[in-house]
Amino acid sequence: MPLRLYDTWTRTVREFTPIHPDHVGLYCCGPTVYDHAHIGNLRTYVFEDVLRRALVLNGYNVRHVVNITDVGHLVSDADEGEDKMEKGSRRTGESAWAIAERYTAAFMNDWRALNLLEPALWCRATDHIAEQIDFIAELERNGFTYRTADGVYFDTSRQDDYGYLARLDVAGLQAGKRVAPGEKQRATDFALWKFSPPGATRQMEWDSPWGRGFPGWHIECSAMSAKYLSPWFDIHCGGEDHIPVHHSNEIAQTQARYGTRLANFWMHGHFLLLDAGKMSKSGGDFLRLQTLSERGNDPLAYRYLCLSAHYRSSLRFSEAALDAAQAALDRLRRSYARWPQGGKPDAASVARFKAEVDHDLNLPRALAVLWDVVRSDLPPATRRASVDCFDVVLGLGLADWKDVDTPELPAEIAALADQRERARAAKQWSEADRLRDVMTAAGWLVEDSAGGQVLRLRDQTE
Ligand code: AMP
Ligand code: ZN
Repeated sequence: MPLRLYDTWTRTVREFTPIHPDHVGLYCCGPTVYDHAHIGNLRTYVFEDVLRRALVLNGYNVRHVVNITDVGHLVSDADEGEDKMEKGSRRTGESAWAIAERYTAAFMNDWRALNLLEPALWCRATDHIAEQIDFIAELERNGFTYRTADGVYFDTSRQDDYGYLARLDVAGLQAGKRVAPGEKQRATDFALWKFSPPGATRQMEWDSPWGRGFPGWHIECSAMSAKYLSPWFDIHCGGEDHIPVHHSNEIAQTQARYGTRLANFWMHGHFLLLDAGKMSKSGGDFLRLQTLSERGNDPLAYRYLCLSAHYRSSLRFSEAALDAAQAALDRLRRSYARWPQGGKPDAASVARFKAEVDHDLNLPRALAVLWDVVRSDLPPATRRASVDCFDVVLGLGLADWKDVDTPELPAEIAALADQRERARAAKQWSEADRLRDVMTAAGWLVEDSAGGQVLRLRDQTE
């Protein structure tokens, strides 16, 4: 079955076919590095990583580009307020450049801890100022811009289908919003270049044909995706909040310069929610991956939690849900570690798993296939080889996991444990008890838990 993905542009699940035979271009909007990433942001990157792995499973060579926003993202999406970087600099007392460095490094640590595949390219907005200026100059030549006292703006009235991605009610938006005279002309227009405030120097500013200042937030993604993937590539991703503003504006710009809507597929991850509502970085009240580690959870348990919900539904975070994900992951790891290598995957299970992945990344159902295999009576080596295939997409790093708490099981005990698990599955209780006695006599205590049996070496004093 071919890979089918939901496209926000068409609002349908449709078959994915690559534009170029040799690679798939994937552009994902990356972090704004004025603070740590919160686990909501990270949910979006886990979704994008699973998408990339699903493409690899389908035999595609993926060119994955992620940007780092280190300038120009203002506190309000309506082009108002301070640059988040300068605000972050005031908060920490460090320079905007220093916090960009620090939070980029912290972000990379989270990235690795979640076992996210390294992109082909990370690109920073501040390393691409010339490309952004060129882009704006071209928009100006094509008649899509105007100047105000505080910057150069994109004129959204020049495009009949502005906001189509979000199905924006443009007329309603214009009527409902007051726009300050002398500033932008319409509520939907947006900044391409902002001037440094008169008489003041910003930490991050550059000369341009229009005056000293800095780029608006959206232009970086149009400029860098065109440079590294071409103006027409396969898939563009981000969180659902990007649909009405950031991605609508990227499309407007690229349409105005190149006549394309950037990507054939637009895909969006839905939000992670807290009981209190939406988790937001600028609210200052957010959970980091490190916060989860400090309470004893493995970052990969958070990854497992993300996999347990479909990327197009909201996921409400709770400590109980995270603990359940941790317990499931621990169970999976312990089972996996007991199974010997050298088997062949079970073709039917692998096909079932792939069918779920190919159906718009239905990871909750793919996980159900995984658990069917774990609990099946397939030979242990077959189960291990099958789970290895699944982990190409799940990215739980099962083969790399080392159980530091449990001593390694000798092969004969592992075989007995497996035999007993199958006896239990077949409800052959007396056989299961007999096998437990054999293992106990050999020095291994067997405890039955909801997730299967747990073995530990008997303390000699017991
Ligand atoms: P930012 O660093 O704020 O530019 O956001 C980075 C990514 O996280 C973007 O793709 C956002 O759409 C996404 N994002 C922001 N908040 C959440 C959330 N609560 N849940 C999931 N994704 C989010
Ligand atoms: Zn972007």
